[in-house]
Amino acid sequence: MSTTATNFPSGLKPIELSSDQAPSSKLSQKTVLDILNKKCFHSLQHLKQAHAIILKTAHFHDHFVSGTLLKCYANPNFNNFTLATKVFDCIPRPNVFVCNIYLKGSIENGEPHKAISCYHKMMVLNSRPNKFTYPTLFKACAVTGSVKEGVQFHAFVVKQGLTGDVHIKSAGIQMYASFGLFREARKMLDESGKTQTDVICWNAMIDGYLKCGEVEAANEVFVNMPDKNVGSWNAMISGLARCGMIENARTLFDEMGERDEISWSAIIDGYIKQRCFKEALEVFHQMQREKIKPSRHLLPSMLTVCANVGSLDQGRWIHSFVERNSIQVDAVLGTALIDMYVKCGRLDMAWEVFEKMKVREVSTWNAMIGGLAIHGRAEDAMKLFTKMNGEKRKPNGVTFVGVLNACAHAGMVERGLGLFNSMKRVYEIEPEMEHFGCVVDLLGRAGLVEEAEKFIESMPVKPNVAVWGALLNACRIHGNVELGERVGWILLDMEPRNSGRYALLSNIYAKAGRWDDVARVRKLMKERGIETVPGSSMMDMGGKVHEFKMGDSSHPQMKEIYLMLEKMMDKLQIEGYSPNTSMVSYDIEEEEKETVLKQHSEKIALAFGLLHAKPGTTLHIVKNLRVCADCHSAFKLVSKIYGHNIIMRDRVRYHHFKNGMCSCKDFW
Ligand code: ZN
Ligand code: ZN
Repeated sequence: MSTTATNFPSGLKPIELSSDQAPSSKLSQKTVLDILNKKCFHSLQHLKQAHAIILKTAHFHDHFVSGTLLKCYANPNFNNFTLATKVFDCIPRPNVFVCNIYLKGSIENGEPHKAISCYHKMMVLNSRPNKFTYPTLFKACAVTGSVKEGVQFHAFVVKQGLTGDVHIKSAGIQMYASFGLFREARKMLDESGKTQTDVICWNAMIDGYLKCGEVEAANEVFVNMPDKNVGSWNAMISGLARCGMIENARTLFDEMGERDEISWSAIIDGYIKQRCFKEALEVFHQMQREKIKPSRHLLPSMLTVCANVGSLDQGRWIHSFVERNSIQVDAVLGTALIDMYVKCGRLDMAWEVFEKMKVREVSTWNAMIGGLAIHGRAEDAMKLFTKMNGEKRKPNGVTFVGVLNACAHAGMVERGLGLFNSMKRVYEIEPEMEHFGCVVDLLGRAGLVEEAEKFIESMPVKPNVAVWGALLNACRIHGNVELGERVGWILLDMEPRNSGRYALLSNIYAKAGRWDDVARVRKLMKERGIETVPGSSMMDMGGKVHEFKMGDSSHPQMKEIYLMLEKMMDKLQIEGYSPNTSMVSYDIEEEEKETVLKQHSEKIALAFGLLHAKPGTTLHIVKNLRVCADCHSAFKLVSKIYGHNIIMRDRVRYHHFKNGMCSCKDFW
């Protein structure tokens, strides 16, 4: 017999009861528990139905049933611990079983303070904590930094004679270590002697030391512990990585015999934190080769890696992995996917992800709006901003950086200024430094250099390097030597170690033909020992990221690449290209001038791309510095002659080369 659909809100499928089950009013405890365990863990709607049945059948008074019900509500996937708390508050005289479920839920849902207050409720109700209660309580104290309560709980553990329990002990060690109280932690560890102590307590000690940067102490424990398991290695690896000692972490990772999911995540996360994206990607590859499934939490960070190195292939692989495994695309994962596609130059794919997303956070809108903006699709960015307003989503400061950027690149001065003025008035957002920078850029790009300068003078805060930088860039584009010179020197004073600042200033002098001043800047740079950043370009090909540095010949295919480069340059010259040698002889380019322009890293990467790419495909190149004028014109011609679209990301913006033209319209 089954319940009828009319009992439930329309459109909601009721829980099917099989024919051997009794009418809902006579369901046994076992049946109710079965329903909870089998049907209610993934659907809040089913859970609410089951809840109603439980109330109707008076099983709610059964702590075993109400506890299981609470466990379902506390599932972090529902992201609704308030609801779980309400249910908990309704359970009459909850026993220790129910309380432990609530304690665990409060930690899993990131509300540890509720665990501590639950303990006080237990005391009032006289429901005696057991060995499952204390590990959770210690964890809650560690997370919230509640030293007083932690010490108190430890005293209760001693009083109840539970000190020998390994889970309590390891949680206690971790708690004390998180307080920085190593003596107490060590005391707990050493209490029962070396041989009897469980390995997880040793691991907790290692973890505790490393969380506080005590590398030597951790290493001593690691070396001297009687037994090691994979957790011990993992604790060392993630701890060392967290302390910035990624190479030591890698050595251990390579040495360890058996690895688990956590080991892989630990080393990859470590690389990402150090911004060693190429290495992170290589380990991720190795993981795929060894057929190890990446854990869910690793996916957004790996997508960030793909975005940074421009690895579209790997990014796509992750996207299809998500689809193959029916992984739910929440706001974090979805936003990471959008960001990856945007940064790899695939706005169409980014848009597709955006459209499909069920839950969109402000960050999701920002990723899409900002993405359209940096690709020069100003109108589309503005349309999306309007749509966002229409859906009553409140924009934040980052949203405005996106739309102001869009206006700046499209020369929509009045619209941009209007938006800027509406920030505080309409949206109650206080403009910050980044927004001031956007306005300077907006005015400056449009040739309103004097207005931009006046705007800087009227700012309520002292302008930072980014704001001055935007003005200097405007001076460079519009050939305003006098102001550019002044701003250039201000910037040199503010950032004397930044080689890019020297480059931009000398660039302005060079454009005005003031070679003495170019020489003066160069001399100063030499005296101060400033070295230029070596140019480097990356290209994703066949699932691997290839990196090329200026004049670098370490790539195994270098011979073929240089042959291709020669061929390419010959072809370009037939088409009327002549190397822009003025760049070489007088100016300091960011990528230090070299004897031959064709050794610029982006040209080498391009030649490599031409060598391998199928006709008609789009080539993606990521460069660490601004693209130089010579490479820019070469790229335009290549896109025409070879029929490849080229998307290049330099330090400042995106260039879409197509049919001999660039999307930046030669302003960058
Ligand atoms: Zn170049
Ligand atoms: Zn361009």
